[in-house]
Amino acid sequence: MEITLAIIKPHVVRNTVALRNLKNLIGKNFTILDSKQVHITKELSERFYNEHKGKFFYNRLMTFMISGPSYALILQSQDCIQKWRNLMGPTKVYKAVYSHPDCIRALYGLSDTRNACHGSDSEQSALREISILFPEFKATEIVMNN
Ligand code: ATP
Ligand code: MG
Repeated sequence: MEITLAIIKPHVVRNTVALRNLKNLIGKNFTILDSKQVHITKELSERFYNEHKGKFFYNRLMTFMISGPSYALILQSQDCIQKWRNLMGPTKVYKAVYSHPDCIRALYGLSDTRNACHGSDSEQSALREISILFPEFKATEIVMNN
């Protein structure tokens, strides 16, 4: 069993119908080990997106992610990381709309920055990202016991 970190981004959290739909979709596909609404601070966002520092979209990504509450979840399933990324679809929303019209980013994304959701890209990133947003979560016990 694998675990991953999912984030529903601020513009979707503001839309209660969209948020409810996404929670239903997630509940049908994954075991939710923990979840919470969290207003990501500048400090947390900088740690979280450290790998993107210096890229042209970095500042707009920071501004967006701290603009309001997000909804963070720790998900578990077989092949959880890839499964969640497949449900999210391509990073770029206009590509998502064209090539995967039913994916989350096609349905709820507004732009390449406001692309509705985040998913860890590897087991290592998942553990790092979970430790940032859920510092109290004991990931090793969960991974070892499953
Ligand atoms: P995520 O890490 O959010 O799951 P990803 O792995 O598909 O998405 P990354 O390359 O890690 O994409 O980019 C992280 C985030 O930065 C994206 O989700 C998006 O919000 C933003 N981003 C990435 N590329 C662009 C871009 N070309 N223009 C604007 N924003 C971008
Ligand atoms: Mg990424």
